[in-house]
Amino acid sequence: MRASVLHGPRDLRVETRSGLTPAAGQAVVRVSASGLCGTDYRIWSGDRPVAYPLIMGHEFIGEIAALGPGTEGLRVGQKIAVEPNFSCGACPLCREGNKNLCLSRTAIGIDVHGGFAEQACVPARCCWPAPAGIGDDQLLLAEPLAVVVRAVARGEVRPGESAAVLGVGALGLLASQVLKAKGLRVLAVGRTARRESLARALGADAFATTESGRAAEAARAFSGREGVDLVVETAGTAVAVAQALELAHPGGRVVLTGLPHEPSSVDFFSVVRREMRILGSMIYQDEFPEAVRLLGDGRVRVESLITHRFPLDRIQEAFAAHRSPEAIKVTVSI
Ligand SMILES: [Zn+2]
Ligand SMILES: [Zn+2]
Repeated sequence: MRASVLHGPRDLRVETRSGLTPAAGQAVVRVSASGLCGTDYRIWSGDRPVAYPLIMGHEFIGEIAALGPGTEGLRVGQKIAVEPNFSCGACPLCREGNKNLCLSRTAIGIDVHGGFAEQACVPARCCWPAPAGIGDDQLLLAEPLAVVVRAVARGEVRPGESAAVLGVGALGLLASQVLKAKGLRVLAVGRTARRESLARALGADAFATTESGRAAEAARAFSGREGVDLVVETAGTAVAVAQALELAHPGGRVVLTGLPHEPSSVDFFSVVRREMRILGSMIYQDEFPEAVRLLGDGRVRVESLITHRFPLDRIQEAFAAHRSPEAIKVTVSI
């Protein structure tokens, strides 16, 4: 099979490797497409070290090519999305349902080989069958969508509430749509106004920028009170964490799902005085089926989110494209 193998920082080579055979409980997936995200970029660039050589790729879909024993419920030829994280299933965190927090969690495409290859071998329990009629582009966004489905659930949303989504990348534009599907009013907040029309086309009721320095004022005007009920932070920068807290009203909730890699200075005096609830949200627990459903129903739209597509042998260009200002979601077709 053809696979793109990372041998060291920025040393990505498309190679021929032997085909895969599933062990008990495993499925071999004939990969059709893999999405690329900031995590892949950090691994590719060397910011996030991994054990080399590694086949990256954790956002991928395909067809079941072969099944090992003990994989009832799946069949060869079935179209699936891969949930690329699996936990140990035995530790106290797993037993209480917090499998996303398991200290022995394995991430496919990060800890073990993933989907930037013609084939990937994954636990059968990571395979979610595609609903009839769903498009490949829709299915491919199931993984990032599951991240924001969980973030929104962590926010304990109620219909009619006001929300602000910080960040207008793939996660932010997906989060706005999930919030709209749950009956909230959404203020999208970008660094600049460049994605205002796209955010509005995907359902955002209003738009504000942080560069204006008036995002908090916009949140007050939008909510008609001291700020929005809920903020979902998807930008994952240190400054965005502090900005997120300014948008919610006293007693409001802030869910952080972007991953800020640098420490953030947060005014905790204001957190205490305003009784803010700050919640982390890490990938997903049981949100994958809901994400697939939202995509299958057409309640979350992805067409305008996939901005770049590359074949596997041009995967280096996909990493360069990921950093271009126009990029929202870059995908690799396999
Ligand atoms: Zn990702
Ligand atoms: Zn565990």
